[in-house]
Amino acid sequence: MYVSNKVKELPPYLFSSFQKKKQELIANGVDVIDLGIGAPDLPTPKFIIDKLCEEAQNPSNHRYSPYDGSAEFREAVAYYYERRYGVRLDPDTEILTLIGSKEGIANLIQAAINPGDTVIIPDPGYPAYQTAVHLAGGKSVYLPLDHQHDYIPMFDQLSDQDRHAAKLLFLNYPSNPTAATAELNTFMEAITFGEENGIAIVHDAAYDLVTFDGYKAPSILQVPNAKEIAVEFGSLSKSFNMTGWRIGYVVGNKTLIQALATLKSNIDTSQFLAIQKAAAIALRSDLSGVKKHTMIVKERMERMYHGLVEAGFDVQKPKGSIFIWPRILAGYTSAAFAEKLLDEAGIIVTPGTAFGPSGEGYIRMALSVPVERIDEVIRRIKEFNRKGVSS
Ligand SMILES: *Cc1c(COP(=O)(O)O)cnc(C)c1O
Repeated sequence: MYVSNKVKELPPYLFSSFQKKKQELIANGVDVIDLGIGAPDLPTPKFIIDKLCEEAQNPSNHRYSPYDGSAEFREAVAYYYERRYGVRLDPDTEILTLIGSKEGIANLIQAAINPGDTVIIPDPGYPAYQTAVHLAGGKSVYLPLDHQHDYIPMFDQLSDQDRHAAKLLFLNYPSNPTAATAELNTFMEAITFGEENGIAIVHDAAYDLVTFDGYKAPSILQVPNAKEIAVEFGSLSKSFNMTGWRIGYVVGNKTLIQALATLKSNIDTSQFLAIQKAAAIALRSDLSGVKKHTMIVKERMERMYHGLVEAGFDVQKPKGSIFIWPRILAGYTSAAFAEKLLDEAGIIVTPGTAFGPSGEGYIRMALSVPVERIDEVIRRIKEFNRKGVSS
């Protein structure tokens, strides 16, 4: 069958070989612990499910949603931004409902660039940025992030050529995969960099509410005049354990948002109204459900962090996200280490290189299993280290 080069040239799904091996090991009776999945394992809070059930019964919700999303949902996003960040948004022009933020990110790139245009993406970073740039016929340039600089951008490392050619720059804090967080001054620098170079700034805030120890993640729109050149993506997936519901939003610059809305009106017809209405009450809630959930993630993170330190790993303690990003022990590549960990300890992790070349030397572990399983992970890793040293 004839298929497009764009699709043929997409990188193979990175985890398929691990998933195949996982099935083989399980068939052989191995108790595999999967820390490779970048999604929360906990259920959606009940008040959101109850609202969905109620709204699903109402025939007026069975019709098409407005293209830009329901007014209830967009107004709830505006309410959330005002309350949480003190940022005012016009629900009609500065907010758009998305069928999950991944959809919006991929379509935004289509709407914002022409073939051949350059997009700067974080390295290591969420893989969907690079594939979406490829599908839009663009060219990705890496913004290298490293642990010495707390994974904060070093804009002066970009070449003059790249900064002149770039149309968009992506940032993501709290970060998938590094769990790095940012303060508002990082966003101020990014906005200044964008203004000086004529580059639109896109911030992916998928983990905005998944933070620990009193750290509160800022919004890029808190930077004065950010709306003139920036948009921010948000999602209910990680904060409200709603990955399967497919609901998110983009806020900020009108021109970019209207370009995305126009493109999307030719592709989809927004999300099920009942889902948008249930998501609206989530955003208007007191966020106590989110707090309960982040306490669980924090407890897992503490166990994993202390266990990894005890096991001899060099690792930063996360202030947000559902990941931890340890440096692997010397003598392995990330891919070889991940493979050996699965073969010998029955633990699935994601090699850092799945997120870009600067991920070499690291693995990403998702905090998506209960604390008892984390204790078991640490026990097996210590055993793995002992064997590794003696063999
Ligand atoms: C999970 C994730 C997304 C996608 O979330 P959806 O709203 O479920 O599409 C986007 N960005 C990052 C960094 C993520 O980890």
